[in-house]
Amino acid sequence: MTPQARTENEHTLLLAKAREAVSHAYAPYSHFRVGAAVLTAKGNIYTGVNVENASYGLTICAERAAIFNAVAQEGPELRLKALAVICEHPGPCPPCGACRQVLAEFGPDAVVIFQGQNGLEEVPLFQLLPHTFNLPEKS
Ligand SMILES: [Zn+2]
Repeated sequence: MTPQARTENEHTLLLAKAREAVSHAYAPYSHFRVGAAVLTAKGNIYTGVNVENASYGLTICAERAAIFNAVAQEGPELRLKALAVICEHPGPCPPCGACRQVLAEFGPDAVVIFQGQNGLEEVPLFQLLPHTFNLPEKS
């Protein structure tokens, strides 16, 4: 499945769901609220938000929260076509490296939609994370 297989409607809906999710973010420490939405190969959309913790290292990004939500709903065979991430603040908000690696696990051919320097950008994951970590195949 190619990233181009998505429709304009899917793109618009994915962004709308990510925007809706932002208000549910739990970010009392950074005040950097983020919402994300993933589109699965089955055509479902799941959302996530960043959830901070007083012990900062336990914080989870919106993108990973959305992916884990999708796994919980569709199971380990989950395949992702796209991920959209929206920040409450203006300015660039691409997924962090950890989220890119987690996305690669379920959507190596996925496209990522995020706020860039000059508006929304849509970039294939393989361009954001060209050298994905993979365990060697078992023989
Ligand atoms: Zn992240």
